[in-house]
Amino acid sequence: MSMTTLYRAAQVNEAGGPFDLVERELTEPGPGQVRVAVEACGVCRSDAGFVNAGFPNVSFPLVTGHEIAGRVDAAGDGVEDWNVGDRVAVGWFGGNCGTCRSCREGDFIHCARMQVPGWAYPGGYAEYTTVPASALARVPDEISAVEAAPMGCAGVTTFNSLRRSAARPGDLVAILGLGGLGHLGVQFANKLGFETVAVARGADKADTAKHLGAHHYVDSTAGDVAGQLQALGGARVVLATAASSEAMSAAIDGLGDNGELVVLGATPEPIQVSPFQLITNSRTVHGHPSGTAREVEETLRFAALTGVRALTETRPLEEVAAAYDRMMSGEARYRMVLTTGH
Ligand SMILES: [Zn+2]
Ligand SMILES: [Zn+2]
Repeated sequence: MSMTTLYRAAQVNEAGGPFDLVERELTEPGPGQVRVAVEACGVCRSDAGFVNAGFPNVSFPLVTGHEIAGRVDAAGDGVEDWNVGDRVAVGWFGGNCGTCRSCREGDFIHCARMQVPGWAYPGGYAEYTTVPASALARVPDEISAVEAAPMGCAGVTTFNSLRRSAARPGDLVAILGLGGLGHLGVQFANKLGFETVAVARGADKADTAKHLGAHHYVDSTAGDVAGQLQALGGARVVLATAASSEAMSAAIDGLGDNGELVVLGATPEPIQVSPFQLITNSRTVHGHPSGTAREVEETLRFAALTGVRALTETRPLEEVAAAYDRMMSGEARYRMVLTTGH
């Protein structure tokens, strides 16, 4: 009685290879798993790390994509609290093991065997994906699938890192970079009550930055970013969303007392900082990963309450190569999102 059902997926067949739109066989979710009918999937710079096998243990053929929004299409045995038709998002956090030391400490985002969609299992550049139920976040009615998708990685990363930072309402917070992460970081910083500074390249981005909620704009091409931040009183937090170690290094002297450089932009280049720069003002430099499924849900709820939204350019799944190239070019305004027609 069972008929084979096929679905479309954009797969990469070898490291660095082009996207290949293929048909795959739809399978039933296993115990504890949920099959999601993908409506939208964001295109993240980290996807290049998978496509180019820059991360360890990437296997091909590969279906990347970890900013997924859609509906529960089928639930496997033992799945509680999720029903067919529920609107869900799945981000970078695609499941945790429950047994490693971090999980036993309740610190799920640092799970030693944390699963990322597109890495641990086929991701969201497809009409369907099957994920552990523990990876699911609920999407509020006010948020469309296209709006929800980027919140699973870019959104939760900026929201979570800001609310976990030392900054308190009224403090000066600078968002370094105005791309996929940065344009959300500026909005979240404003809504969290921070005096918000956007730092980006070129005077032409000032209007957009202000429109997103920045109280101040610093053009990094006009020189001395640190000096301009000090002129505003010194930043309690610099949220480094741009993957530029040079730009991060140049901002450190813009931190005030007890200031934090919070590193989100992923790059292998070393950040340059001297002990002198850190000691007297008690500055710190630290990283921040994304957030758990529950934290993605909290991000979505905060966005629903405050009006924070990713600005997106959508492309149908079959135009995946063009969407990916536009993301890589840095020209996207501000997040590319693939849609499936579901
Ligand atoms: Zn991402
Ligand atoms: Zn674990």
